[in-house]
Amino acid sequence: MKELLPPGVQVQGEMGIAFVIAGPSGVGKSSVISTLLSRDPKLCFSVSATTRVRRPDEIHGRDYYFVTEEEFDRLIATGALLEWTTYQGHRYGTPKSEVLGRLQRGLDVVLKVEVRGAQTIRRAGLGFPVVLIFLVPPSWEELVRRVRSRGTESEEALAERLRIAREELQHIPEFDYLVVNDELSRAVAGVEAIIQAERMKILRCA
Ligand code: 5GP
Repeated sequence: MKELLPPGVQVQGEMGIAFVIAGPSGVGKSSVISTLLSRDPKLCFSVSATTRVRRPDEIHGRDYYFVTEEEFDRLIATGALLEWTTYQGHRYGTPKSEVLGRLQRGLDVVLKVEVRGAQTIRRAGLGFPVVLIFLVPPSWEELVRRVRSRGTESEEALAERLRIAREELQHIPEFDYLVVNDELSRAVAGVEAIIQAERMKILRCA
């Protein structure tokens, strides 16, 4: 197909695209992402490093790289992270090794980050298209219910997550797309539609 395109025109999907999925904690980012990954072999997940303790259902290397404070310091010092942040007293960061090589090979990478991280990735000037998707709950009450149902944290930690969530919602205008996670299959279909459209986007190079 490439030979049919006039000079200076490229289709976005010919290179890797970074799809950044953000949204308040508890909105269901992990469920949406794991469904997307199971259905699209061109998508890979960027596994973040974190100093937070592992939850019982989480696996090192699949959900996160669970590292010590010293190891995280070393990742920062060696420039191994694309971005990092502190969230509720724990550090989270995106290893460059999870993202750059894959984009160069033409694979699309899904990143799961909090809202500030999404902005940092956009500003990082990766040299690849970056698409910012904000996942929202259908209502505030539903978000509270989902955060509580995790049942892994103290009341103070839950209240802090909800306070941060309120703040994060203010940043919706900085995103490209808004997807409501009322029902998992609908939210996944929404994100898949965005992914398909972005892959077909025409880029005009000067
Ligand atoms: P949790 O402790 O619930 O797994 O994650 C807390 C928050 O940190 C979530 O909003 C999650 O998306 C975000 N997060 C996870 N990994 C990263 C990362 O590498 N960078 C940034 N900026 N946020 C992350």
